[in-house]
Amino acid sequence: MELQDNDLIDMSAMIIENMFGEPGRKIFEYLLKNGYIAEERIATTLDVRSNEARKILQKLSDEAVVIPDRVKDEETGEVLHSWRLNKPALKTFILNRLKKTREKLEVLARHEREGTLYICKTCNRRYLLDEAYAYGFQCPNDGDLLVEANNPAVVKLIEESIKKIDVLISMIERM
Ligand SMILES: [Zn+2]
Repeated sequence: MELQDNDLIDMSAMIIENMFGEPGRKIFEYLLKNGYIAEERIATTLDVRSNEARKILQKLSDEAVVIPDRVKDEETGEVLHSWRLNKPALKTFILNRLKKTREKLEVLARHEREGTLYICKTCNRRYLLDEAYAYGFQCPNDGDLLVEANNPAVVKLIEESIKKIDVLISMIERM
């Protein structure tokens, strides 16, 4: 299987929606359609609160998904402060996210293997040992007792997820 540029766009859309919810998805869709968003036009062009949109655009800018630019309004001649979609950065953006997720899964698998992960059998929430201590080995959600998780089936599941992420990472790196 080979990945296409469209796959990178789809994956970015999913990640951005995960990170910023519905407003993030709307902003990314607008950027895909128009190439850029003008600061001065956020309130009139996007169905997202201006403050929230600015916050999201700033975070996307930290990841180089958008870059600051100036765009001249054809009709009024006004120069607008804009954010331009930086498509070549999507690959790195996705890889960074996948690597972060992979790290989290590695930590989880290690705790699970070492038996330093605790679980509430009522709500299935998981806690690290120090968290379990802090809560007096009682689930803060429902008060049920927290027990050692150490579950080989879960370890296997996490390891499989890590393998899938590795395959995806190498596919994207080859692009
Ligand atoms: Zn619970």
